[in-house]
Amino acid sequence: MTPAGYNGVMKIIIGNWKMYPKTEKEAKAVFAATKGATRALKRTRVIVCPPAVFIPQLRAAQGKGASITVGAQNAFVEDEGAATGEVSPAMLASLGVTHVILGHSERRALGEMDDMIARKVIQAQKNKLTVILCVGEDARDEAGSYFSRVHAQLRASLHGVPANASGRLIVAYEPIWAIGAKAEHPATPTDFHEMSILIRKVLVEKFGKTAGFRVPILYGGSVDERNAASFMKDGGADGLLIGRVSLHPERFGAIVQLAEQIK
Ligand code: PEP
Repeated sequence: MTPAGYNGVMKIIIGNWKMYPKTEKEAKAVFAATKGATRALKRTRVIVCPPAVFIPQLRAAQGKGASITVGAQNAFVEDEGAATGEVSPAMLASLGVTHVILGHSERRALGEMDDMIARKVIQAQKNKLTVILCVGEDARDEAGSYFSRVHAQLRASLHGVPANASGRLIVAYEPIWAIGAKAEHPATPTDFHEMSILIRKVLVEKFGKTAGFRVPILYGGSVDERNAASFMKDGGADGLLIGRVSLHPERFGAIVQLAEQIK
């Protein structure tokens, strides 16, 4: 099922392996165990995003009819050209990749700006990739200016994206202060819920009511087995983007099983 057919019932769980593990052997082992822990899913879609160099091996190991698919963590703004070290969306699509994370805060920290991210979204979607677009503020203040920052970031990251492209879009709200080993703490389901209302408003303004409501909105930032269910149940998240825990197949599998049970 693609997000184009997203019905608000199915949950989407994405694993972002970041720049781990160090070897192909380990990557294959983590993937095999993840596959084993995510079998026979009816209501959950699982996408694992490894470092690009491991994609062909993991695609080969994916097999037909598997519950998990392989995504990418980034893609360049063009399909080919003089861009040393980059990986293009056309290349990813040719490997059978279905999803790509764009605008992750760790890439924004390396200098990627909203206008470049918007161009990447357009190019990835042209190659029929579904974009997992990350947005989120670096800090919160009492006055609530983080709402306008995320609003501006999302609008700018979608600048020029055609009105008919919403079926290939997932938005992940990832507050930077809640992500990774340096996280202060996870956000709360209420934090997510409040921000998701603003994100939904931007999506409806951009794509219209019906299409705007169909775009899944995920939460990401220090998700684990203890807090995962409440982001989906109490916060209303359509799914989760999981970093560190996605490298632990049993723990990741446990979160997927929780998602599977949420109605
Ligand atoms: C991420 O890298 O997108 C992420 C959410 O990381 P973590 O789950 O480790 O906070």
